[in-house]
Amino acid sequence: MAEIRTVGICGAGLMGNGIAQTCAAAGFNVVLMEVAPEPLQRGVATIAKSLDKFVEKGKLSQADRDATFARMRPTTDVNDLAGCDLIIEAIVENVAIKTELFQKLDAMLAPHAIICTNTSSLCVIELAAKTKRPNRVAGLHFFNPVPIMKLVEVVKTIATTQDVIDALFAFSKKLGKEPILAQDTPGFVVNRLLIPYLLYAIRCLEGGLASKEDIDKGMKLGCGYPMGPFELLDFVGLDTTYYIAEIMFDEFKDPMMAAPPLLKRMVLAGRFGRKSGKGFYDYE
Ligand code: NAD
Repeated sequence: MAEIRTVGICGAGLMGNGIAQTCAAAGFNVVLMEVAPEPLQRGVATIAKSLDKFVEKGKLSQADRDATFARMRPTTDVNDLAGCDLIIEAIVENVAIKTELFQKLDAMLAPHAIICTNTSSLCVIELAAKTKRPNRVAGLHFFNPVPIMKLVEVVKTIATTQDVIDALFAFSKKLGKEPILAQDTPGFVVNRLLIPYLLYAIRCLEGGLASKEDIDKGMKLGCGYPMGPFELLDFVGLDTTYYIAEIMFDEFKDPMMAAPPLLKRMVLAGRFGRKSGKGFYDYE
């Protein structure tokens, strides 16, 4: 198994820039690829700001900050990814756009290279099957904010070989993360459990069990959760939760995964949570 030295990150959005920062901070050479200069510059500026915060808090020296930054090579040319040993794709959640990129990468990368997707909801095997190396394709699912959150779900498809999974576990640990193994089914491990919980909280509210404030307080003080379900729904985004619930329900046909009427109506009203200024709570 060839050593992973250079990591290519596709997409410099919310997840991509966090993944790029984390890889560079762990000593990997990073090629950060975007479709256009503007989102690339935005992603690089976000990384610079985040690294500066670590310096301000005394968690990173100025020299390490500069070395981390210097290990990253931003580009808008997909061909610059050719020398990478590992690709982590974090572009828009669209199967057609991801497939096109996977096929381009498959054609240019060395045979030993591994291609991973950070998808939250798509079937990893669907992307893998469009390449000539389905055994070297897997999911590597990070959590937001990536530099802070410890977990990585390593997603094994029915085609991924064990040497690839082993390499991804070792890689995740080098990033300072804790990997867990998940099968290629919607929601992987965390969302498989979290989404039904959040949906059930909405059902409880609809049924008049208690106020949203009391449900949140109950779960925080009674279970030690850092956020109650409605605070978490607003943080994750009601639109994102609805979208993932629809995909999970479509696959499993489990009523626990069906979106409650109130969630659908809040999404239709544009109340997405923190990002839209209004969700279960008001942020304006
Ligand atoms: P985002 O919209 O913030 O970023 C996506 C970026 O991809 C954009 O900057 C866009 O310009 C870029 N892009 C689009 N097409 C591209 C291409 N062909 N090549 C290179 N760049 C391209 O999205 P995000 O929230 O960072 O999500 C990215 C992926 O991560 C999705 O698959 C999503 O399901 C997954 N994910 C998201 C979260 C989350 O909390 N947001 C958590 C885990 C996984």
